[in-house]
Amino acid sequence: MSIDHLPLPAAEQRFTPVAPAPVADPAWRPVPRPWSPTPAARASLWLHGIGLCVLAAWPAGWPWVAGAIAADHAFLGLAGMRPRSRLLGPNLLRLPEAAIRRGEVTLTFDDGPDPAITPRVLDLLEAHGAKASFFVIGRRALRYPDLAREILRRGHDIENHTYRHPYGFACWGPGAMRREIMAAQRAIADTVGVEPRFFRPPLGLRSPLLDPALAASGLDYVSWTRRGLDGRSGDPAAVLRRLTRGLAAGDILLLHDAGRVRSPGGQPVALEVLPALLARIRALGLRAVSLRRALDGPEAVAIAAAAGAAACPAPAGHACR
Ligand SMILES: [Zn+2]
Repeated sequence: MSIDHLPLPAAEQRFTPVAPAPVADPAWRPVPRPWSPTPAARASLWLHGIGLCVLAAWPAGWPWVAGAIAADHAFLGLAGMRPRSRLLGPNLLRLPEAAIRRGEVTLTFDDGPDPAITPRVLDLLEAHGAKASFFVIGRRALRYPDLAREILRRGHDIENHTYRHPYGFACWGPGAMRREIMAAQRAIADTVGVEPRFFRPPLGLRSPLLDPALAASGLDYVSWTRRGLDGRSGDPAAVLRRLTRGLAAGDILLLHDAGRVRSPGGQPVALEVLPALLARIRALGLRAVSLRRALDGPEAVAIAAAAGAAACPAPAGHACR
């Protein structure tokens, strides 16, 4: 069952699903960032070129060429199954040094927004003075636009976690991946008026072809320092242990504000874990901030807020469309 077909407890819904209503903006185009292949990707391109040359000069050698290409694809495929690998492109695993010196950590929430869970996550974060980054699914932002805007209104960031959350995303071709990413980018920007800057793929699986698509979309790839696995485990104590063992400044933590997994008490696991996690962060003298705040620093956020306050309704640190 897809997470978009989960039953939503009616009593817990403060945000009513509405029909998708994207605001068309034909003039909008992403701002690409420079891209160059990693050494592993460059070696793979060379191998394919050499393979073609060998085939042209020595057609009978095709089994050797096919074997080498298959081994190369297997190597890149295994690299893509390691979410924390940097073999296939830049990968933000921890916050930069300046954020570490400020004692910052970042909580990230994937798969929302969900009217049964996200509002309660927002309340818990607010009660502890914490900010976070929400990697939302584009069509869920369209389905719950008020909730998506509420995330931003409370001072958190919204980032790109694809449009439909396809589990086979890592096996897609570059064109299909780019269309999926851009559909989410447009859905989110049309809903909340702010473009995502960061991307995280479904299941954390990465294709060798993803990085050029991200660069063309102007997005940076983010994984995590430690994850709770609350999308698989219904044991809040185990999830909390995974997140807090060795917790330190600079960590990026991964939880989910949507999904079917429930604790033995019938609660979404993230909701049971969050109070203890936020208390632990505070006890360690750390501060939970969003990714943009951690990367840009408080000065840049203040300058952007002062410059854009008159013309832009988006919260500090966010660019308006
Ligand atoms: Zn996900």
